[in-house]
Amino acid sequence: MFCPECESEYREGFTRCADCDVDLVAELAQLAVPPDEDVIEIARYPALHVAQLAASVLESSDIACFIGDEFFSGMRPEIAFASGGVKLFVRDSDADRAREVLADFEQSIPESEETPD
Ligand SMILES: [Zn+2]
Repeated sequence: MFCPECESEYREGFTRCADCDVDLVAELAQLAVPPDEDVIEIARYPALHVAQLAASVLESSDIACFIGDEFFSGMRPEIAFASGGVKLFVRDSDADRAREVLADFEQSIPESEETPD
């Protein structure tokens, strides 16, 4: 068992981290998909905050996702923008479901979101 906050390992039988007062998880890997798992680019957004919004919509549907340039290279948003947009990645196995969720989400983005400032 592991604490998702401080990443301490606990023996079987423990269910909460005494330091952080949070529930332990069976594997830290549940919190994030390792980068070497098959992930595909599911969408590309003109601004980081739109990508973050899309990510939160996916996460609320229990679909793990990553904002690509942030996740893979730590690029600053303005650089990600210059490189063609902020990429959103999901696991290959979640791609079909993610497309459905994002199709609804994209219809809900106000057009003003694409105007800088
Ligand atoms: Zn802890």
